[in-house]
Amino acid sequence: MTTEIIGVDQFNAGADKRAGELIASGRLVVFPTETVYGLGSDATDPEASKRIYAAKGRPSDNPLIVHIAHPEDAEPYAVTCEAYYRLAAKFMPGPLTVILPKKDSIPSETTGGLDSVAIRCPAHPIARKLITLSGVPIAAPSANLSGKPSPTNASDVICDMNGRVDMIIDGGESEIGLESTIVKLDGDRAILLRPGAITVDALSCVLDRVEIAPSVTEMLGENERPLSPGMKYRHYAPDAPLVLLDGEDSDVLEFMKSSPSSAVLLCYDEEVDALEKDHRLIAVGRKNDLASVAHRLFSALREADRLGASVNYAHLPPRDGLGLALYNRMLRAAAHTVLKTDKGK
Ligand code: AMP
Ligand code: MG
Repeated sequence: MTTEIIGVDQFNAGADKRAGELIASGRLVVFPTETVYGLGSDATDPEASKRIYAAKGRPSDNPLIVHIAHPEDAEPYAVTCEAYYRLAAKFMPGPLTVILPKKDSIPSETTGGLDSVAIRCPAHPIARKLITLSGVPIAAPSANLSGKPSPTNASDVICDMNGRVDMIIDGGESEIGLESTIVKLDGDRAILLRPGAITVDALSCVLDRVEIAPSVTEMLGENERPLSPGMKYRHYAPDAPLVLLDGEDSDVLEFMKSSPSSAVLLCYDEEVDALEKDHRLIAVGRKNDLASVAHRLFSALREADRLGASVNYAHLPPRDGLGLALYNRMLRAAAHTVLKTDKGK
């Protein structure tokens, strides 16, 4: 299929209506959001959802997130509750996905056979306009081929999706760079299934009980079933192994300095001067600014593949605040390979 690639100016100069019509007729449109790029179609159309799975090469038991323009637009599709509206008042539109019991209007093809549905109300103006113009809720997973890092810029989208979708809307770099926070509601209890830019502390300001699902930080056993099916798939893995270095920043820097020159180092911006003489580097952001690391992480993992390292080394992120989301993504990219650099000091 031929993929039409349009910029923001074209979108705003009339292509928006065509994009909305494509979605409404079950065709595939890649669009920017504040988290990562989404691969969208009509969430109420089972054939459209099948097309999404086919374009991504994604297993069809891994459910899709349903995007709406306003929190109350969830009513025809999900059984909402008081806690949902409390979360919505604080975090929607924004990078939060809430899992609720589904209504019959959402086919089981969209939810990977589950009786729950994931609802998100994105903040990005292009995403919001597209939902409104299409007149339907938009099912949209991240716009990467299954197993690759989520795309955070148009060239990474084009690399994966050119020829597989009807339209790509180029909205520049994704502001956040990591996928949405996912919580499942069970009465007033909330279970964090995927950490994101909305942190556990932020959720705890609104909800009395926030538990973290074991799959967020631990490796699941062979026969364990995660609450969120996506968590069981190996994800974001670069071609060469990624090893996460656990230790004081100064010890990690020393380890990186003495690593073989065939290694690629994913380092902080502040470490470039100390490392660039002997190594190929990817600067992933500023040491004390985890948002800058989130913004660059996925494009850095793709860049690591292009550099063809024998091994990639990176800092193990902290587990608090936004660090938990980085920790969760990087641990999975590294297949849980962590090396201590402080030698038991
Ligand atoms: P992506 O669309 O690529 O950001 O991935 C969507 C994530 O949402 C996957 O990890 C899914 O497993 C998760 N998800 C979507 N719907 C549900 C649901 N009904 N219950 C639990 N997890 C869900
Ligand atoms: Mg994804």
